[in-house]
Amino acid sequence: MSADAPAARRADDPPAANPDNAIEVRGLEKIYAGGKGFPPKRALKGIDLAVPRGKIFGLLGPNGAGKSTFINILAGLVTKTAGAVSIWGFDIDRNPRNAKASIGVVPQEIYFDAFFTPREMLELQAGLYGVPPAERRTEEVLRAVRLLDKADAYSRTLSGGMKRRLLVAKAMVHNPPILVLDEPTAGVDIELRQQLWEYVRGLNRRGVTIVLTTHYLEEAEELCDDIAIINHGEVVCSEPTRQLLSRVDEKVVIVRTTGPMTDIPDGLAAHRVERRAADEIAIHYTPRDGEAARLLHAITAAGHEIADLSTKESDLEDIFLQLTQGAHQGEG
Ligand code: ADP
Repeated sequence: MSADAPAARRADDPPAANPDNAIEVRGLEKIYAGGKGFPPKRALKGIDLAVPRGKIFGLLGPNGAGKSTFINILAGLVTKTAGAVSIWGFDIDRNPRNAKASIGVVPQEIYFDAFFTPREMLELQAGLYGVPPAERRTEEVLRAVRLLDKADAYSRTLSGGMKRRLLVAKAMVHNPPILVLDEPTAGVDIELRQQLWEYVRGLNRRGVTIVLTTHYLEEAEELCDDIAIINHGEVVCSEPTRQLLSRVDEKVVIVRTTGPMTDIPDGLAAHRVERRAADEIAIHYTPRDGEAARLLHAITAAGHEIADLSTKESDLEDIFLQLTQGAHQGEG
């Protein structure tokens, strides 16, 4: 493709992206072709999404929601079926090279050639991105991920955490304004998770827009300014984290009874109820006068004796479940 000269706009071009957005997608659709015995799969159903510049943006969704498909399209690894994607203002069809130069993607899988050193690996990667030797920042990038002392060690001698930091370094060699991290802390211990968060925050403070997928809701709540939730190839919400958290004016009361509750009491039918144990349920409710008393009455009216109870405010997990499963009763 030679589409990288700033081309004149044509009448049938998609409308220009908003320059305040690091990433903007419109009507993005991906249909994976079916194969023998596999029907085609519509993994992204025409999604619209904007990632504002300068933010830490979380992309959440259950397994199979379409997160990797989305990220792989951004990374140029999967071809979209329809729609427009713009990265740092560059349309990926019209300006693929500039779009690609504007983004670094840290994959989830760790695989390296065991016989390269971190220094060699970063030099190779810089070469792939066409960064001239004089402009390479290998040592600076290694220092940033605290691997300078391992610059010349074989990568097979690095710990899991070091390998993950090396992946981040690899995605940064061309100094992109956007960094995408796919499940950055999956399978990582708590201490290293905190270190990675701190590092990501530091990059963000230096102006890098961060997009991360995670299935640790706590991570999203802690780290992300904005959160989009996708489910079955559709965006079900995309808004500032604080707004999302305040969106559901809901509380949860956890009730333990002296004996098992074989059935959820009829009086709770209008509520989302999760069973936590044979003798323990969590009931979601909207706080208003007398509501908690009504719930407890529904339990005692069904012949149960309450052994203990506690309440909590709803957190991201509750909101996530509500948005991805709809009003849900019975099972937790
Ligand atoms: P997530 O990352 O949120 O778990 P994916 O983007 O991996 O979701 O997958 C979205 C849907 O597309 C799933 O139903 C998945 O099975 C399907 N899918 C993903 N990759 C392919 C592929 N290469 N061929 C066919 N279907 C795929």
